[in-house]
Amino acid sequence: MSFSAPPGSQPTAVVTGGAGFLGSHLIDRLLAEGWRVIGIDNFLTGSERNIAHLEGRADYRFIKQDVSEPFTVDEPVHLVFHFASPASPIDYLQVPIETLLVGSHGTKNCLDLAHTKGATFLVASTSEVYGDPHVHPQTEEYWGNVNSIGPRSCYDEAKRVAEAYTMAYYRVHGVDTKIVRIFNTYGPRMRLEDGRVVPAFIGQALKGEPLTIFGDGSQTRSFCFVSDLIDGIYRLSQSSEHLPVNIGNPHEMTIKEFAEAILSIVDTPSKLEIHPLPADDPKQRKPDISKARRVLGWEPRVGFDEGIRQTIEYFLGVLGTQAKCRLR
Ligand code: UDP
Repeated sequence: MSFSAPPGSQPTAVVTGGAGFLGSHLIDRLLAEGWRVIGIDNFLTGSERNIAHLEGRADYRFIKQDVSEPFTVDEPVHLVFHFASPASPIDYLQVPIETLLVGSHGTKNCLDLAHTKGATFLVASTSEVYGDPHVHPQTEEYWGNVNSIGPRSCYDEAKRVAEAYTMAYYRVHGVDTKIVRIFNTYGPRMRLEDGRVVPAFIGQALKGEPLTIFGDGSQTRSFCFVSDLIDGIYRLSQSSEHLPVNIGNPHEMTIKEFAEAILSIVDTPSKLEIHPLPADDPKQRKPDISKARRVLGWEPRVGFDEGIRQTIEYFLGVLGTQAKCRLR
């Protein structure tokens, strides 16, 4: 661990959004690395199920708190990860104001915590800051193509202002800040009903229902398995990099190809069903990860087939008897 905690004390990390998909995996990694961890969540989109396995651990504490409201932590803190936010298009379309607040006020509150405690700060930003990109694959230098008044703007602009706050605290207060731009990630602990394409298609295939393709399915995404993503984020937290770093898997596929891959892995009667394309849905997305390779010595290791099978196994467990189909 490159971070130096006061002698004799265990270094402590705060993870906001600690009951979420990424936050809970990040907590597991921090605990495995020897950190004491304080998870914070208000359960707007997080789930108690994601952190149930941590109950009773002496090196873990949970605080129920909306971080868009000012808050303090009554013990030393050395590292603050701000991961609280609705993150699926369906979620943030339902709670656009909460999404804007947690990206803006929430980020400021977490930066204030880091500043007061003398802690390092790392914010979860997103490939959505590139909007519907005109540069492909997306490099960190690209400024993006975001519609500031469209339905996705509550998330995109919240994350852009989160980055702006973070750079301002770095420049004005000298807080040791980091920004990760997270591309599409999948794995166990995603919510089956969060509307994102990975849980949607897997859930539909396991139930034998049609796979709902939005548009003609020619739009692309590049899916990263969660353990790879968390490894990149942990490395970034231990690095001296202050400017944004893309973390994601550059293995790009169309949504139709993704649907066909699910149908080839799950033994299901499901067919493809075309639905309207949501407004401002990015047509292509693929991270350029040269910087992560160079600065963090990181690259994804888990192949699509391995990662998607682990994810399907997880959803089989969640669905129980509702699952009518199995892995081939
Ligand atoms: N999508 C789809 N069917 C679904 C859910 C999503 O075709 O049931 C498409 C969506 O239009 C987008 C892509 O899959 O082009 C990824 O969507 P997701 O909501 O997972 O994340 P995004 O990358 O858009 O934030």
